[in-house]
Amino acid sequence: MTALKEPVQTADIQTALVPVSVVYGDGIGPEIMGATLRILAAAGAQIAPQEVRMGEALYKAGHTSGFAPDAWDMLRQTGIMLKAPITTPQGGGYKSLNVTLRKTLGLYANVRPCRAYAPYVPTHHPDMNLVIIRENEEDLYAGIEHRQTREVMQCLKLITRPGCEKIVRYAFEYARANGRKKVTALTKDNIMKMCDGLFHTVFDEISAEYPDIKAEHQIIDIGTARVAARPEAYDVIVTLNLYGDIISDVAAEVAGSVGLAGSANIGDTFAMFEAIHGSAPDLAGQDAANPGGLISAAALMLGHLGQHEVAAKVQNALLCALEDGMHTQDIAGPHTKEVLGTQAFADAVIERLGRVPQHLPAVTAEAQAKEMPVRQPTTPAYIDKQLVGTDVFFEWTDSGRDPDVLAAILQEAQLRNIPLKMITNRGVKVWPGGLPETFKSDHWRCRFQSDTPVKHGDLLALLIRVHDKGLDFIKTEHLYTFDGEPGYSLGQGQ
Ligand code: NAD
Repeated sequence: MTALKEPVQTADIQTALVPVSVVYGDGIGPEIMGATLRILAAAGAQIAPQEVRMGEALYKAGHTSGFAPDAWDMLRQTGIMLKAPITTPQGGGYKSLNVTLRKTLGLYANVRPCRAYAPYVPTHHPDMNLVIIRENEEDLYAGIEHRQTREVMQCLKLITRPGCEKIVRYAFEYARANGRKKVTALTKDNIMKMCDGLFHTVFDEISAEYPDIKAEHQIIDIGTARVAARPEAYDVIVTLNLYGDIISDVAAEVAGSVGLAGSANIGDTFAMFEAIHGSAPDLAGQDAANPGGLISAAALMLGHLGQHEVAAKVQNALLCALEDGMHTQDIAGPHTKEVLGTQAFADAVIERLGRVPQHLPAVTAEAQAKEMPVRQPTTPAYIDKQLVGTDVFFEWTDSGRDPDVLAAILQEAQLRNIPLKMITNRGVKVWPGGLPETFKSDHWRCRFQSDTPVKHGDLLALLIRVHDKGLDFIKTEHLYTFDGEPGYSLGQGQ
């Protein structure tokens, strides 16, 4: 095993430098962080690294969140973090530290540049150079899950208008500041007409404010297939949390350089920078990992801090090392001259500080130096909201699961002004007029709806009558109109 070089010590750094929280991480983390901090110091980065403890050792010490008790205070003092990957212990009971960090610190934008370094790093797509901007806080990652019946689990997908506005505006401002020409939104609004539909609507509204940037929308499934097959057709992609999670790994893999990609997690008051890969336990302690992803992340961080000259210097030195065939084993190919270990690769980058690449496009300080204005989401004008009924969900398995029987019981319980309108099972209408072929789980949605506004007291009275029938109601979702438009989906089959 090769000995690691000494990491930069906090005591060596002058106090005038920008304090940066540094997480050394697990697995290959300490090796690639040591290598990266050496490069930053040699390049003249004006930062003072301050170690914050989180990760596997903390999980194992009984902190289920993976954080040391003082971690949050330390993070909030710096407002910026360079983070090596963390190993998430196997088994239940442990929370994802990354999801906790993003949501707790309000890191709403996950920015992942994915580019090819052809011909120096082998790839099928030499012209690929795209950026994925993933919404980072909402969607199915809210972690609100329930077992509602013996047969059915539920995970809530929450999409907010302010969340959509922030991420879509960020994507367009990013495109403008970085000389990008096109923003593509990816959603599944043909199926999730309200949640993904909101994202698409907001995208259309905000794109109109950026006539200099081309805007297009694609359905996520064909979009993902095209990113895999023709990534060079994309410039900036903006998408919801789960889709962004998946497509950014597809893009990184297609670029051929998972070990070279860095990412930024941006919030209004905090920013976190990390490589996109994990802690690679299979390589830990062998001086074999590629530190390029964390070096790229560190360059993104320097740009964020306004240290554009140093950011460009670091990135150009990295490109020079790649061009000169100085490669770690994961990117070795026909253009490799020397296969280097982690620390030797860092030395190769340090030797090239101050040089610009001859063939790969050089990075300039000016190209990164544009400010990205921050605009807070708009407060919507007054919206008239009226309660018009409720969907009551039941667990019910009696009478051979015959929906006509359930309907008859519910019609006895219904209030005159809020009649039963329909019953669905897994979203498919089974009453009135269902088909015997439709599979019926033990989870029934029963819609009681009025033609005129009702009061919450009416719904409580309805629930008491339903309860008196001996039915197990497991949840309710109230039905509202917003400026007269229904705020609820219609059942399939209607
Ligand atoms: P991984 O990214 O760690 O490894 C996948 C493959 O890529 C492995 O073969 C590995 O050797 C290789 N690889 C990764 N980084 C490399 C590098 N810099 N240089 C050379 N090769 C590299 O993914 P995994 O194995 O699925 O996850 C391992 C651990 O990392 C898990 O505990 C997971 O939860 C965690 N993880 C953490 C983060 C994070 O902290 N941001 C992200 C992803 C995974």
